[in-house]
Amino acid sequence: MTDNPKTLALIAHDGKKADMVAFALSHKDVLDRYLLVATNTTGQLLQEKCGLEVQRMLSGPLGGDAQIAAQVAVGEIEAVFFFIDPLGKHPHDPDIQGLLRICNVHNIPLATNAATASFIISAQAL
Ligand code: PGA
Repeated sequence: MTDNPKTLALIAHDGKKADMVAFALSHKDVLDRYLLVATNTTGQLLQEKCGLEVQRMLSGPLGGDAQIAAQVAVGEIEAVFFFIDPLGKHPHDPDIQGLLRICNVHNIPLATNAATASFIISAQAL
């Protein structure tokens, strides 16, 4: 980790959590250089399966996406990797849409699938 590490947010819907773990394992060396925040269950998996240090927010359905959106809004997050399950139903869809919107309002890099996240990480643009 550098002296002033930037913060990345990681979130995965249940149907995409395996993708998130695979993504994090294959980019662990890069992710280790950042502060990481995640929704609760995603963060727990990243800690336990990938050995990453993660600050865990609330679970998504309990407001975790909204917490991360608030951090994006005040400029605390460099990029958001939010692996969305387009085939699932989500009780917290308003919060999900809110987070996507806030990323777009503030022009924050937003990956909604593993391919885009890998592209961003590989581009070393962060
Ligand atoms: P979770 O939340 O990481 O706590 O499962 C993710 C979400 O569904 O937004």
